[in-house]
Amino acid sequence: MMATFADKVLAWFDRHGRKDLPWQQNPTPYRVWVSEIMLQQTQVTTVIPYYERFMQRFPDVQTLADAPPDDVLKLWEGLGYYSRARNLHKTAQQVRDVYAGEFPTTMTDMETLPGIGHSTAAAILSLSHGQREAILDGNVKRVLARYHTVAGWAGEPRVQKQLWAYAEQHLPAERNAAYTQAMMDMGATLCTRSKPLCLLCPLQDGCQAFKQGKPQAYPGKRPTKELPEKTALALLLRNTAGELLLQQRPPTGVWGGLWSFPEFADETALHDWLAQHFAPTQAIATRLPVLTHTFSHYRLHLQPLQVDLDAQPARIMEGNGWLWYKANTEYTGGLSAAVRQFFQTID
Ligand code: SF4
Repeated sequence: MMATFADKVLAWFDRHGRKDLPWQQNPTPYRVWVSEIMLQQTQVTTVIPYYERFMQRFPDVQTLADAPPDDVLKLWEGLGYYSRARNLHKTAQQVRDVYAGEFPTTMTDMETLPGIGHSTAAAILSLSHGQREAILDGNVKRVLARYHTVAGWAGEPRVQKQLWAYAEQHLPAERNAAYTQAMMDMGATLCTRSKPLCLLCPLQDGCQAFKQGKPQAYPGKRPTKELPEKTALALLLRNTAGELLLQQRPPTGVWGGLWSFPEFADETALHDWLAQHFAPTQAIATRLPVLTHTFSHYRLHLQPLQVDLDAQPARIMEGNGWLWYKANTEYTGGLSAAVRQFFQTID
C-alpha cells in the first residue's frame, strides 16, 4: 500500500521530530496553551527561557488567573505583542470562573476564550488530548501551500479556505498529537521560509513546488500596504538621583499596561505639563535620537526630549501610575519597547 502524506510525515517525526521541548513534557492543556500563545510570534529558542520562568511562577491555570495583571506583563517583558499576555490572563480567569478550572474539550468552547483562534484551539486539543483536529499555523501553511502549489497570500480568505481543506484532508486516523507536532516541526526545520531542505524532506515525491523548482514562491507574499506614520514627543525627565519618570499606560491599546515615557503631541503641551508639575525649574530640554517603533497598524516616531531637573522634586509623582525608574528599581509590570530601546541605545 502506498504511504500517505500523513504516514510519511509521521515516519519522519519518529526519526527526526522534536520530542524534548519543555511543553512536550506533561502536555496538559494549560502547558500546551501557554506554549502555543508564546510561539505565535516568537521562535522556539527565544520562547524556552520565557516559558520556563512563566511555568515556575504560574504552574497552573488557577495561579495565573489569581495573579495581578502586572505580574503577568512583567514575565512577558521582551516577548512583545502584549495583547497575548493580557488575553492569557483573561482566558485563565474564564477557565477558572466558567469552566471550574479545567480547559474545555470542544473546539466551539475553546474558541470562545480570548486569544484562542481555530488553529490554536485545535493545537491545544490535539497536542494535549490527541483529538483529531487540523491546525493551520504559519509553518503548516507553508508546507501545504508548497506541497499543493496553492498560490496567493495565505491571509486571503480564498487561500485560507483551500489550505484548511488540505489540512483536514491529510489528517491521520490515529496519532494526531504526533502528527500535529510533526507538521509544525517540518515547517520550522525543513520547509523553512527561505532555504527549504527539500532533499531531506519526506514529502519531496509529491511536492508540486519542488517539482516546479521554486518552493520559495509559495505561499505568496502579503500585499504591501503603506503604514501610516505618527509622531509624538517622549519626555525623558530625569531627577537629580538620575531616575527617569515613567508613566503606566492605560490597560488597553498600544503598550497597554506597560511603563513608558510620558508622551505629548507637541512641545507646547510638554512644557505646559512640566511647568504645571515641576515649576519653577530652569530645565533645559535636549533632543535625543528619534526612537522608531512599528506596530501592525502604524509606525511611531518618538522624539525623546531629555529634561534634567535641577532640584529633587517632592515625590508627588510616585504611585498612581507614575514611577521614578533606574535600572535596579523594583517595580511591577513590564517596560514598553520605547523604554527598552532607549536603554539599549545608551548601554
Ligand atoms: S519538498 Fe521542499 S518545498 Fe516541498 S514540502 Fe518538502 S521542504 Fe517543503
